[in-house]
Parts: sequence; C-alpha cells; structure tokens
Amino acid sequence: ARRKYIVGNWKMNGTKDALGEARAIFEAALNRQGVDVALCPPFTLIGPMVAEISDAVVGAQDCHAAASGAFTGSVSAAMLSDAGAAVTIVGHSERREAFGEADSDVKAKAGAALGAGLGVILCVGEPRDVRESGGAVAHVLAQVAGSLPDDFDPARLAIAYEPIWAIGTGLVPTVADVAEMHGAIRGALAERIGAGAGQLRILYGGSVTGENAAELLSAGDVDGALVGGASLTAAKFVPIIEAAA
Ligand code: 13P
Repeated sequence: ARRKYIVGNWKMNGTKDALGEARAIFEAALNRQGVDVALCPPFTLIGPMVAEISDAVVGAQDCHAAASGAFTGSVSAAMLSDAGAAVTIVGHSERREAFGEADSDVKAKAGAALGAGLGVILCVGEPRDVRESGGAVAHVLAQVAGSLPDDFDPARLAIAYEPIWAIGTGLVPTVADVAEMHGAIRGALAERIGAGAGQLRILYGGSVTGENAAELLSAGDVDGALVGGASLTAAKFVPIIEAAA
C-alpha cells in the first residue's frame, strides 16, 4: 500500500522567524503513523530547517538541470542535497508559466534530481480554458509523458496533479474529477512502466484546506496533497496531516 504523502510548498514565503511553525508542524507529524510529511521552504531556509529541527524532511521548490556551471542565480540538485534537502518539486505551474519551463526542461530537472539522490515531486495541471473545453485529461497526460525521465524508480518520484485554476483561488475540482484524473495518470503510468505504477504516489494540489482534505484524500488514486497557502502555519497544516493519517 502507498503511504499518504503530505507536502507543504511555502513558495516565496518564510524567513528564519517561520522556523517555529515548521517545528510545530514536524512535531505534530511525528505522532502520525502512516503519513509522510515534507516541507519545501525557500532555498534560504533549507539549511536552517534541517539544522534546527530534528526529524524534519525538507525539500526544495525547484532545481537546475545541470550539476554546476555558469548559471547565475540557479541551484543544482547536488547543492540541494548538500544543504540537507531530501526531495525537490519540479515543474510547478508557477515555474512553467513565469519562467517558461517546458516539459523537456522539467524532464531534465527531474532526472538531475533523481541522479543526485533526491526524491522528486513532479507537477502537472491544466489551465481553466482547457478544463472547460473538456481537454484536461489529454493535456495532463501529455505533460506526464513529456516530463517524466526516461528511467526512474517509482518509489522515489511522485506526481502532483495541480489544476492551475485551483491554485490559490479557493476553487477545487469535484472529487469525481480528481479521481478521474488520478486514475488516468495511474493508467498511463501502468502502460509505460508496468506494475511499478502501483508504487508511485499521485498527490492532489490546489486550495487544499483542513476542511476539504479528508474528502479529497479519500478519492481513488489520491495518495496525498501538495499544499500551498495552508502549509504556512501549523494551525492550518496540521489538520491536513491529521486528515491523511
Ligand atoms: P494553494 O494550496 O495555495 O492553492 O497552492 C497549491 C500549490 O500550488 C502547491 O504547490
């Protein structure tokens, strides 16, 4: 069986004074069996979070595909690992949109992260017009096909389905729509990698809260959540962890 996986994406939020919230989150997570919890703070907090909080599982929000070199402002997967990160998000829609990342870029980043020993959370999701025109499943399966590395361990890679129109908006797809998408992703993975598809965790993201988490997490093939705004405080995030445990 797949353990539930609840991941907080702090986006560009948090300075050292937020470490108290992270500590409270991991203390609460420690008491929950059957759920894995990770926090992805800004790069600047990875080292401090790892150093100051025992039992913290810390991730990054992005990495560069190259190991090192003349890439001003970028951070490689090996550097993230060196800072204590265990995992990284790649392909978040905010990076695909604002930084022009294509599926091929996301694929290269995912491969680099796995090669550096990190786990990967690979994000996909459709914009609103694609959902409204009925093309969401085809759009997302094309992203999955184009963004997955050629070869990967399904136990070390999770896919996060994040409909762009649900991110930060309070809008959430129906549970039936989430289950349909996650089932379609699982089916495509099974065609591609066979039985290993049963090991890969598929997370839902987009306006997850303590109020809707239990229902979303009960949907077929939903193995966890990638949480933005509601991961910034223990008061909001711990109820989501509890809903998964
Ligand atoms: P919200 O939970 O704030 O909608 O953000 C979702 C998200 O983008 C997580 O990566």
